[in-house]
Amino acid sequence: MPAALPILRSAKQMLDWSRRERAAGRSIGFVPTMGALHRGHLSLVQRARRENDRVVASIFVNPIQFAPGEDFESYPRDLAADRAVLRASRCDVAFVPARASLFPHGFQTVVTVPGLSAPLCGRFRPGHFEGVATIVAKLLHIVEPDRLYLGQKDYQQSLVISRMIRDLDLPVRLVTAPTVREEDGLAMSSRNRYLSPEDRRRAAGIQRALQAGARAVRRGLTSPARVRALVRAALKGIGRVQYVEVLDARDLTAPRRLQGPTVLAAAVFVGRARLIDNVVVKA
Ligand code: AMP
Repeated sequence: MPAALPILRSAKQMLDWSRRERAAGRSIGFVPTMGALHRGHLSLVQRARRENDRVVASIFVNPIQFAPGEDFESYPRDLAADRAVLRASRCDVAFVPARASLFPHGFQTVVTVPGLSAPLCGRFRPGHFEGVATIVAKLLHIVEPDRLYLGQKDYQQSLVISRMIRDLDLPVRLVTAPTVREEDGLAMSSRNRYLSPEDRRRAAGIQRALQAGARAVRRGLTSPARVRALVRAALKGIGRVQYVEVLDARDLTAPRRLQGPTVLAAAVFVGRARLIDNVVVKA
């Protein structure tokens, strides 16, 4: 039986490990996660494995990216299962910090990327992207990776982090990897665990609705409002729609007419799960 995956708990242990590896000339790929790992996370670990000498994954349910009333307390946590899964995908080490070590008493510094954080999820999750940018900036300083791996599933998050990396001259390359899906198209998500079998079946309709919108864009529909209406109609009966947006995929601005790379994104409550998904298409 292979040895269990090493778990590092303190920032100092993590940084020492990374510096030793880099001093030995080895490159490091880094996959930040909140745990409850699924094949989407694993695809990032596997990609990092192919492109780097060493792979670090972090598991940390980041309190500062949850607004009051969101699912911070109930977010699924299963370190033993995550550890086994990371080991099987040939991750080298997991960084699993305690909350108090990353956010000690008196913590107050934040990283804000205001423009890209404003639309989509930012409208409904106050402080979310500030929390994300702040934790990712901290983790990048603690892990000092050569490459950072994020999923396209969280499209806005990846743009926010890309902007932060450039604006703060952080010495890391961002790799955004494609969304991994269930057979029926549902984007894999830790929150899919909240779905009843009936909700699970309906949830697949989110991707189908976005694809219907994407087809219309490919066929030449250039009115964002009409594409949005089409996606909304296709989402009928799936759950409570929080938003459907059709934006410029490069900077998340709202164009009058669609032209060039376009992102269709939606957030829908299915049962108690808030699910997000997106499709990028060329108009
Ligand atoms: P999370 O644990 O939900 O914070 O996600 C950690 C990382 O995994 C983020 O970069 C996500 O975008 C990525 N991720 C989550 N779900 C998927 C998926 N279905 N396919 C690809 N990447 C994903």
